[in-house]
Amino acid sequence: MTTDILPRIAVLATGGTIAGRAGDASMTAGYKAGVVGVNDLLDAVPALGNVARIHAEQIASVDSKDMSHALWTTLAQRIDALAAQDDIAGIVVTHGTDTLEETAYLLHLTVKTAKPVVLTAAMRPSSALSADGPLNLLNAVTVAACAQAKGQGVLVAFNNQIHSARDVTKTSTYAVDAFRSPEVGVLGFVQDGRVEFQRAVTKAHTLASEFAVGAQWPMVEIVTSYAGVSRMAVDALVAAGVKGIVVAGTGNGSIHASMTQGLVDAVKAGVAVVRASRVGSGHVMRNGAASDDALGSVSAGTLNPYKARVLLMLALAAGVEEAGALQRVFERY
Ligand code: ASP
Repeated sequence: MTTDILPRIAVLATGGTIAGRAGDASMTAGYKAGVVGVNDLLDAVPALGNVARIHAEQIASVDSKDMSHALWTTLAQRIDALAAQDDIAGIVVTHGTDTLEETAYLLHLTVKTAKPVVLTAAMRPSSALSADGPLNLLNAVTVAACAQAKGQGVLVAFNNQIHSARDVTKTSTYAVDAFRSPEVGVLGFVQDGRVEFQRAVTKAHTLASEFAVGAQWPMVEIVTSYAGVSRMAVDALVAAGVKGIVVAGTGNGSIHASMTQGLVDAVKAGVAVVRASRVGSGHVMRNGAASDDALGSVSAGTLNPYKARVLLMLALAAGVEEAGALQRVFERY
C-alpha cells in the first residue's frame, strides 16, 4: 500500500503514564506522568507509518488525576474542529488511565461526529521495560482508521480490547490489563492490525446526543454511603450551593438512613440527587433498594458514580432539572 492513500489520523496528546518517564527502566510505579511529548511517543512506534498518516497535537501534559473541566472543554472543541476537516479520518487521544473513563464518557456525550474517536493510555511509563503504551497507541490508531469504528461513539482501545466509553472503567491499580466494561463486556478486539467488533453501542451518543460542552459546569459532587456515615457531607455540599449530588450507595444504590435524611432536605432545597452504586458492577434499579419516588431522586442504572456525575453535570447545564426528566436522560444515555 502506498502511504499517500493511508487515512490521516489526528493524535491529540494530553499526558498520563503513556507519556511518563522514570529514572530507571525497572520502575513501573515511581515515575512522573505527562512529561514525554507527542512526537517522541509517535517516534517510538515506527509501525504507525504502515497504518496512517499522523497529524500530532500536544493539547496538554497532565497527570489525568488532575483533569479539569476547562481541559475537557478544550479537548472536545478541538476534536469537533478536527472531525469537521475532510482530510481527517479519525482522532486518537492519549490520556492518563486514572480519569480516562470520565473523559471518554464526557466526549461520547458531547462531540458531534460519526468519525472514530479513540482514547488510549498506558499502565507503564514510556521508559519501562515492557512498556504497554506503544502497542496501545498503534492499536488505537488502527481502530481510528477502521471503517467499522464509525458511528460507535467514543471508544477506548487498551490491551488489545475495544471498549465503549459508556461502559469502560479502570479496575486495577497496577495491572496492564486494567480496564473492564462490567456486565456488558468489550465491544471488540484489535490485534496484529485486525479490528473485530462483536457488539454495537445502543445508548445515545455523539450526533444523537443533546449535550455539548460549554462555559457552564454546574457544581455536582459525589458522596459515598458506608457504615456509620452521617449527613454531614451532604449538608456541607448543600450549604456550598451544589446543584447535584451523586450518591455512591451500598449494594443496589441503598443509602444509610442518616445520609438519607440529609438527601431528603437536599432535594427539598432544589438539589438533583442521583443514586449510583459503589459496588463496581450491576444496575441500580429505580425504586429498588431505595424509593426514588419518595426521595425525589433518580437511579443511575448501569452508570458508575463518576460517569453518572458527568451525565448529571451535562443535563443540569442543558437545563434539565426536574427528577422525571432527569430519569429519562439516565435511561436514554
Ligand atoms: N496518574 C496517571 C494518569 O492518570 C496514571 C496513568 O496514566 O496510568 O495520568
